[in-house]
Amino acid sequence: MGKFLFWAVVILGALFAARLLAAHNRKNNTPPAAPPTRPDGSAAVNGNDANAEPMVRCAHCGIHMPRSEAVLSDGKTWCSTEHAKLGLRQ
Ligand SMILES: [Zn+2]
Repeated sequence: MGKFLFWAVVILGALFAARLLAAHNRKNNTPPAAPPTRPDGSAAVNGNDANAEPMVRCAHCGIHMPRSEAVLSDGKTWCSTEHAKLGLRQ
């Protein structure tokens, strides 16, 4: 087990060194790679991770939901067509 661990460290170290060397060479030969883009094409902003979709609030009940799931009406966002019909909570 100790021997295995030793070789694992050696191999990982070699891979890491090769990787650093490759990155170093790439930096000198080609312009830096573009930052990774998300599948939906939107760039990461404000440091938000994973779910970068803007959240909106239902103007009737106040629940928060992703904008893509919200109902847009009268310039406001609603959680459902029912709440859009009900309008602002009194
Ligand atoms: Zn609602």
